[in-house]
Amino acid sequence: MNDVNKPEENLVQCDICLKEIPSSESKNAEASDYVAHFCGLDCYEQWMKKAEQSSAAD
Ligand SMILES: [Zn+2]
Repeated sequence: MNDVNKPEENLVQCDICLKEIPSSESKNAEASDYVAHFCGLDCYEQWMKKAEQSSAAD
């Protein structure tokens, strides 16, 4: 009767390009205190590079 009722998808924001993506499609990476989300491998790799640089700086 009411199949218009579609479940609301949980959106997360890409840490690099800030695009909103369904959490089921996001890539996740665990940082020290939080979980980062990415829309795809490109953004994930960019984040990894940044993370390596900032941890090397200390
Ligand atoms: Zn992205």
